[in-house]
Amino acid sequence: MIPKSHPRYESLLLRDKIVKAAQKGYLADSGMIAHGRGEAFDYLIGEKTTYPAKRAMYVAVAALLLSNNPVISVNGNATALAIDEIIDLAKAINAKIEINLFYRTDERVRLITKLYKDHGYKDILGSLDDDMEYIDDIKNNRASASKNGIYSADTVLVPLEDGDRAEILKKSGKKIITIDLNPLSRTSKMSDISIMDNIVRAIPFMTKIAEDLKTQDKKFLIDLVNEFDNEENLKESLQQIKIKEGE
Ligand code: ATP
Ligand code: MG
Repeated sequence: MIPKSHPRYESLLLRDKIVKAAQKGYLADSGMIAHGRGEAFDYLIGEKTTYPAKRAMYVAVAALLLSNNPVISVNGNATALAIDEIIDLAKAINAKIEINLFYRTDERVRLITKLYKDHGYKDILGSLDDDMEYIDDIKNNRASASKNGIYSADTVLVPLEDGDRAEILKKSGKKIITIDLNPLSRTSKMSDISIMDNIVRAIPFMTKIAEDLKTQDKKFLIDLVNEFDNEENLKESLQQIKIKEGE
C-alpha cells in the first residue's frame, strides 16, 4: 500500500496499475516502458492539464461530436489507467471502442475484451470474433482494424498511439486525435488534434466538455474545429515543459 501522504502518491498509483496490468498479462513489456516515458513528460509539465491541452480537448470533442463514425482506440495502457472513464466518454460522444494493440496476441485481446465486458461494456470492437480488415490493403498487423470500427471510421481518438500506426491511419484520410504526453512524438506531430496530457486527466475532462458542447449548435462546433491550428498548439504545448527548477 502506498501511503496517501507520499509526495508521489498519484504517480505511484498509476505505476501500480500498469504493473498489475502486466502481471495479469494484457500489457506488453514495451507498454511499461511507454508509461515511463509518459511519466517523465508529465513530471515536466507539473502533472497538470495545461492551457493548450484544454484548448485541444475542446476542439477534439467538437470534432468527435461532428463525426459520423467516431471510434476510440484502446490498448493495454489506456485500459489499465482509464477503463471506466473511456466507457463514459464513449457514451457521452456516441463513439465505439476498439481494441488496437501494437503487440497483438489472442491472449491480450481476450483479456481486454473480458475487462470491458466486466466493466459493463459489451460492444467492444477488435475482439477475437470481430470482422477484421486491413487499412489500404496494407497486409501488416499495424494496419488491421475492425470493419465496423476503425476501418470505416471518419474520426479516431488514439491515446498513446505508436507513430507507425498513426501514420497508416492518417494516410487513409481519417481525422486523428491523440492524447500523448510527448509533444515531440511522431504521433503528436502527425495527428490533426494532439492533446499533450495524461490520459487519466484528459478522458474525464473530455466527457465534461462533451456535456457542454452537446448543447451548442453545429456551427459553433464547426468553427471550433476550423479555427484550430495543431502545429501552433503543439508549439505552445512544448513551451509548457519546464526544465529549470522553480520556474
Ligand atoms: P511515436 O512512435 O509516436 O514517435 P514513441 O515511440 O516515442 O512515439 P510509443 O511508445 O510509440 O512512443 O507511444 C507511447 C506514447 O504514449 C509516448 O509518447 C508516451 O509519452 C505516451 N504516454 C505514456 N503514458 C501516457 C499517459 N498516461 N498519458 C498520455 N500519454 C502517455
Ligand atoms: Mg513508437
